[in-house]
Amino acid sequence: MQLYNTISRKVEKFAPIEDRQVTMYACGPTVYSAPHIGNMRAYLNQDVLKRSLLHDGYKIKHVVNITDVGHLVGDANLGEDKVKLAAEREHKTARQVADFYTDAFISDIERLNVLKPDVMPRATMHVKEMLDLIGTLDGDGYLYTVPTGVYFDTSKFRNYGKLSGMDFERLNKYLKAGARVERASGLRNITDFAVWRFRKKASDDEMVWESKWGEGFPGWHIECSAMSMKYLGSTLDIHCGGIDHIPIHHTNEIAQSESATKEKFVNYWFHNNFLTVDGKKMAKSLGNVYTLNDIVAKGFSPMAFRYIIISAHYRTKLNFTLHALENVAITLKSIYSFLGRLCECDSAKNAPNHEEFMKSVEDAAEKFFDEINNDLNVPSALSAMHALIKNANKRMEGAWLSKSEAKAVADAMMDFDGILGLNFEKHMRAKKGMDDEVKELVEEREAARIKKDFARADAIRSLLKEKFGVVLEDTKSGIRWHKER
Ligand code: AMP
Ligand code: ZN
Repeated sequence: MQLYNTISRKVEKFAPIEDRQVTMYACGPTVYSAPHIGNMRAYLNQDVLKRSLLHDGYKIKHVVNITDVGHLVGDANLGEDKVKLAAEREHKTARQVADFYTDAFISDIERLNVLKPDVMPRATMHVKEMLDLIGTLDGDGYLYTVPTGVYFDTSKFRNYGKLSGMDFERLNKYLKAGARVERASGLRNITDFAVWRFRKKASDDEMVWESKWGEGFPGWHIECSAMSMKYLGSTLDIHCGGIDHIPIHHTNEIAQSESATKEKFVNYWFHNNFLTVDGKKMAKSLGNVYTLNDIVAKGFSPMAFRYIIISAHYRTKLNFTLHALENVAITLKSIYSFLGRLCECDSAKNAPNHEEFMKSVEDAAEKFFDEINNDLNVPSALSAMHALIKNANKRMEGAWLSKSEAKAVADAMMDFDGILGLNFEKHMRAKKGMDDEVKELVEEREAARIKKDFARADAIRSLLKEKFGVVLEDTKSGIRWHKER
């Protein structure tokens, strides 16, 4: 597998620390509102990466956290906690809000066939680990206290900003230029960030913990460092997230993790580009924030959405339109119909050019996986798959595709679906399932006949004809059945 690594800005050969074992961490959702389809792009791109590594024979330990405290509006040093604000808005407790949107997130990824992470740690359940990490950083002199909280002094970390390709000075200028929100007073550098924030009001009871620095709650960045290292060790093979997290969140995760452990935090940084809608950033004010439920309510299947997202390369910006989704839904339907027809091929005789055709199936499969291993080039892998479908379709139209050829194509398609996750098997099984049902009914009728229960035998014969269009023939060598032409 060749993968682009954000920190080196190069495509590199992927090699995990342990031979066949990969550790993979992704920043999870902040559970204050329903995840939007941009968030889903991140988890779908990561899913393709995970499935590709599984296909290459790696075992994976996969962690996606749930941010249920500490993520402030505007990502800056001041501002309100997103979950707390939502609780006030919805007249619920922060816990209720977090639980509700955690379930919404899990439901979305399940419907999108995203393989379930091994661990989904909640930030609020790991405050102890965060405080331990803060203690280590404090002991080593990286922290200072101002009236609003305990801050990490970014000037003390050599290579601060390396992930973004900006040095300390440039990153400070960049953040200053982009600052729309008021910053905490007393900060030494504009890039400094809170690892612990002090409780704001005496009335604020929820989401407040005791600590030796004072009552309060953790900063957002420290959560990911603490949870990723708890479950995956001090050096991770892969850390994932959207490109929005490169200059601040992931930069700060590196600074605090490496300052605490003195080890490299992450070997490969995997970042997906943005999903835009109608050419614009998704924003509530623009009214273009879609959720998966919105897409489903418009009559599209989650699989059509999965298909449109994964068919773009993860490092390119993807502009989502309903029109494009309509086209993709049609393409997906035609693939499913192809899979159904594949299972109907019943000619045992190989047609001319059999060897040539079988070789073309092998070549398509090789090309597909070469493209996947080339920094997850799904668009080119899909071209190889579509070329195979076209080729097999042509053969089917001429009634040339034999059973063994159809099986080779079906096997290749199933293999592709190990990466694509588009439920191909279900559409093949629908046909296989029918065959199984017919077989069982034929056997049941035979048993009825033997018992001389002719009424039952006749009823089954009619059922087979009506439901499946299957005609039975009693021959000397037993029962045969075929479909009505
Ligand atoms: P958040 O809940 O904001 O922390 O986001 C969860 C994940 O979605 C992160 O990896 C973000 O980088 C990613 N993300 C947020 N918005 C978009 C978008 N429009 N396109 C792609 N990824 C996004
Ligand atoms: Zn994170």
